[in-house]
Amino acid sequence: MWRDVPEALWDDWTWQQQNRITRLDQLEALIDLTEGEREAFIQSQGQFRVSITPYYAALMDPQDPRCPIRQQAVPQAGELEVFDFELRDPLAEEDHMPAPGITHRYPDRVLFYVIHHCPVYCRHCTRKRKVSDPTTAASRLQIEAGLDYIARTPTIKDVLLSGGDPLSLSDERLDDILGRLLAVDHVELVRIGTRNPVTLPQRVTPALAEVLRRHRPLYVHTHFNHPTECTPEAALALERLADAGCVLGNQMVLLKGVNDDAEAVLELNRWLLRHRCRPYYIFQCDMAEGITHFRTPLARGVEIIDRLRGWASGMAVPHFVIDLPGGGGKVSLLPQYRVATDGPWVTFRNFEGRLFQFHDVAP
Ligand SMILES: *Cc1c(COP(=O)(O)O)cnc(C)c1O
Ligand code: SF4
Repeated sequence: MWRDVPEALWDDWTWQQQNRITRLDQLEALIDLTEGEREAFIQSQGQFRVSITPYYAALMDPQDPRCPIRQQAVPQAGELEVFDFELRDPLAEEDHMPAPGITHRYPDRVLFYVIHHCPVYCRHCTRKRKVSDPTTAASRLQIEAGLDYIARTPTIKDVLLSGGDPLSLSDERLDDILGRLLAVDHVELVRIGTRNPVTLPQRVTPALAEVLRRHRPLYVHTHFNHPTECTPEAALALERLADAGCVLGNQMVLLKGVNDDAEAVLELNRWLLRHRCRPYYIFQCDMAEGITHFRTPLARGVEIIDRLRGWASGMAVPHFVIDLPGGGGKVSLLPQYRVATDGPWVTFRNFEGRLFQFHDVAP
């Protein structure tokens, strides 16, 4: 479909943005849709829009509906299934909003939603209820109110820009928001949660890197989920971010049939480390509406951690976390290494399954 597009246009993020796939006929020209995918596309229209950048779409396998890119970007039948345990706002983010667009749940840090658009709408998105919905977009006034709340709340040390995708803002808007946040005395660091390096890596231009370079300390959380996403374009985006002084960490979401496989996670994490991005979290998929078909048993995430720890660089081992429903916050799950206790003697198993005794001191 894009064979004749000149390279300069292909590499231009505004072209990528303007040529996103949003309609069924465009998608059908590109891949062989299954009956389930076609039905899910039609049914999901009023609820959670479809949008796929040409760059991300070109990574899809046209024949195989199990392709990890395709499953993340093209609606599947499971999206339409509703279960009674599913929640519209699984993390009760709306209940912890002291100002519109701010979720303040932990003592020292806040989520600050600055935009509701994303280049690609991930079918597993936990914020489907508002992401992609133009009527809930953060207005300029709302952003002002958020900045004001942060400035007058001295307990806030850490501000996490989220959305939607904050890199969908213009360079000027980002520059302004970052500058004003880091000018607040009690704000010690700012983080940006973004999927642009994965779905629209062209967005990370030298000009954007220059803007980010002006603000520090700045942490960038990416959202790579599968080795197929590890392209030269994505590598360049990470390189520009790291060279601009951003500290990079990846937040993967564990998705059934996409990346619930230790070998894929290991390959992904090794690639990330080579590109100066440290695996930070593996998220258990939330109890959000219409994403239950992506969920794995909790034991799966623990098995993956168990397969990584000891076998790969410790830096390749992220925390496996569940974000508890109702706003309980994140808790991490670990494999059970402590196998027995006998008086002061504690027996551990190591990564190879061998047993070792450790003498504990009295409390
Ligand atoms: C995840 C989250 C954060 C950041 O948590 P870290 O564990 O510090 O990365 C902050 N606020 C809210 C509401 C969150 O859900
Ligand atoms: S990039 Fe993030 S906020 Fe946007 S659709 Fe994907 S998961 Fe949701």
